[in-house]
Amino acid sequence: MSAPAVASTSPSTALADAAREIVEVGRFLSVRNFVPATSGNFSRRLDARTAAVTRSGVDKGELTEADVWALDIHAPPPPGSSAETHLHLHLYRDRPHVQAVLHTHSMVSALLSNLRKAEGELRLSDFELLKALGDNKTHEATVSIPIFPNDQDVPRLAARASELLAQRPECVAYLIAGHGLYTWGRSMAEARRHTVALEHLLTYELETMKVRR
Ligand SMILES: [Zn+2]
Repeated sequence: MSAPAVASTSPSTALADAAREIVEVGRFLSVRNFVPATSGNFSRRLDARTAAVTRSGVDKGELTEADVWALDIHAPPPPGSSAETHLHLHLYRDRPHVQAVLHTHSMVSALLSNLRKAEGELRLSDFELLKALGDNKTHEATVSIPIFPNDQDVPRLAARASELLAQRPECVAYLIAGHGLYTWGRSMAEARRHTVALEHLLTYELETMKVRR
């Protein structure tokens, strides 16, 4: 008797794996004070049409796997989803290579994005840590992080982000003024690396502004 064919990953297994990754990254980012109160939200692609996304209203350091829902990336988010789910789903629709999206509300991302919102972007250069972003090979590159005005009409904000990012395929992050940071990656590990690197780069920039006053 021949060996049974190896089953491909079932949808429920893929969701459980993604949920475990999200619970873990929630703890990692929470202990660094990047997601105070119940702020922030995280997601992981499951397949071409589905993503696992954190639900609304949970402390991201205390997530359980039941707080992560599988959502159709082309459908309106169901009741109980985070209001910001639209900002995750447009990235999965627009960028097939995106595997994970992380959104944080750290103090530095809220402060610096407010201070620099009139410029519409934050330009970062001459920091070694820029090499942690995407495929950057050198600190000599200038990386532009778009800054969008905050907007409680999240579908409108998602449409604005989608439109601008279509012109910026190299972009790996954006800021929302007075609010926080969105970044993504080709894996959860890359998205997490982008989050940590950007939190440090934003801190460098804010500290530099203080010294220059
Ligand atoms: Zn937010």
